[in-house]
Amino acid sequence: CGIVGYIGPREAYPIIITGLKRQEYRGYDSTGVALINDEGLLIYKQKGKVAELEETLIGKSLHANIGIGHTRWATHGEPSDVNAHPHKSAGGKLAMIHNGIIENYAQLKKELINKGYTFRSETDTEVLLNFIEEIQKNSKCDLEEAVRIALKRVSGAYVILLLDQDNPDTIIAARKGSPLVIGIGKGEHFLGSDATPMLEYTKEVVYVNDYEIAVIKADQLILKNLGNEKQTPYISKLDIEL
Ligand code: GLU
Repeated sequence: CGIVGYIGPREAYPIIITGLKRQEYRGYDSTGVALINDEGLLIYKQKGKVAELEETLIGKSLHANIGIGHTRWATHGEPSDVNAHPHKSAGGKLAMIHNGIIENYAQLKKELINKGYTFRSETDTEVLLNFIEEIQKNSKCDLEEAVRIALKRVSGAYVILLLDQDNPDTIIAARKGSPLVIGIGKGEHFLGSDATPMLEYTKEVVYVNDYEIAVIKADQLILKNLGNEKQTPYISKLDIEL
């Protein structure tokens, strides 16, 4: 299981696919990517290997400067196209990928079903995503704030990356217990479960700490804790080569 993300002037899709392949050693059963371009929020996902998804996507709309990619190791719901990530929120504007387990997802799912939500997949991930969307709707807050409120109610382990069709210049990321590395480029940022997706682009990386939320734009990285306090990103120098 792994996550990859990119935002900046380059084509996001090839960086994401290459990054996912480098993280294949982590093990997985399904693959998916989400991109935002002029056509909107595009999600491509299926059961199987990264190379198989790549094959399926030949000729599809893939030009984008922002995107996220996922390899799934199924824990909640069998390996299938529907259960593959990224998941789309009920309102259709948000896409999310997740590695880990949301332990209290059943309780949250019950609350959401009572509010009229229906679910496409059997994953704990789709529950967390719709929980975030519901908070954003109710509190009329921005996505970052909704993620913070949601994560305070979540138990379990996670790394999540979110795209919002209405904010195509931002990736939101958070982690607890599952790894997240952010590569700092010049006017661009890279994300990975490890540093392998960014090795040829930058040697400067930030290992995000547990309970931190990152708001990532091409030329800006803001880290905060769940108490909404800014954290200073600690930049490490990579000494590994490709
Ligand atoms: N629990 C999530 C699922 O089953 C994420 C699994 C993973 O870590 O890839 O879809």
